[in-house]
Amino acid sequence: MRIDLAACHRLAERFGLNEGIDNHLTAMLPGRDDRFLLAPFGMHWSEVKASDFLVVDFDGRVLQGQGPVEDTALYIHQPVHRLSPQGRCVLHTHMPYATALTMLENPCLEMAVQSALGFHEDVAYDPAYNGLALDFSEGERLARALGDKSVLMMGNHGVLVVGRSIPQAFERLYFLERAAQAQVLALSTGRPLRLIARPVIEKTVAQFAAGATVGGRDRAELHFDALKRVLDRTPSDYAS
Ligand SMILES: [Zn+2]
Repeated sequence: MRIDLAACHRLAERFGLNEGIDNHLTAMLPGRDDRFLLAPFGMHWSEVKASDFLVVDFDGRVLQGQGPVEDTALYIHQPVHRLSPQGRCVLHTHMPYATALTMLENPCLEMAVQSALGFHEDVAYDPAYNGLALDFSEGERLARALGDKSVLMMGNHGVLVVGRSIPQAFERLYFLERAAQAQVLALSTGRPLRLIARPVIEKTVAQFAAGATVGGRDRAELHFDALKRVLDRTPSDYAS
């Protein structure tokens, strides 16, 4: 899990989903419901290694590792891990294209491109930007807004993406940004979007579900394994 979470940081940086040294990618420890892995604050995502992670409990105490816990890491991620059963892995980013959508009066990810259809009825929207999350109540509000979805578009702020595993959460994060990018590029032409008809959406969503595994393996895991091989082929110490 440490290796996967380190790879998740490296890959998010490689795809331009990071912002400075801000934002956090966290995962609950296997078999535990009260502690999670978090990179020490101050590290760039391109340098995070498997051995760097802190084990942090729900009171923000560091049980393993060395380095500071940044406030919003605790106040956003702890409530989402605690309150969202689907939130074993919680990724919060300010990735540019999805964040651009959160700035719009209508922030909807439109069903206008195939990659967006994977998010049909799986995106929650929180229009209430409240400043920095500096107490648990703001994270709890975000967790409630997320509900049982895997994506929360955080108004005027960024995104929260959760998954039952690190590969599944990263898959959502990656394709959300790709779909948002396509939408922003399409809108930038100034021409109206052509939305996909509801019956085609429903048929395609069913096709996605039927193809979720290939050769007995989860598509998200196959993708994540391929991306880790990309990391392995470049000088990289993420697994150390
Ligand atoms: Zn943020």
